[in-house]
Amino acid sequence: MKNKHKLKVRCMKCGKEWKKETEKDWSPDDFTSSLCNPCFREVVAPTIRRKQLKEGNFDCFGRTTDYCDQLECKYRTFCLRLSEKPERDSVSV
Ligand SMILES: [Zn+2]
Repeated sequence: MKNKHKLKVRCMKCGKEWKKETEKDWSPDDFTSSLCNPCFREVVAPTIRRKQLKEGNFDCFGRTTDYCDQLECKYRTFCLRLSEKPERDSVSV
């Protein structure tokens, strides 16, 4: 008999823990190390901003919270996705 558990994830940078919505056959003690959205954004932002500038866009990656009018920017979806409410069921620290 298998129980479905939500995968626990811990941010490597700030140590925040949350549970992933994906249901898999994990044991309750399973942890995976990752980066939470804010930390991940922090890590990739400098690289992506350089690319944005090179491509003639504003280096606005990660600076918006929920709206972006740069429809042509190819990082737009990515950027907005990362700025969504971090993670459901997250444990605040
Ligand atoms: Zn983090």
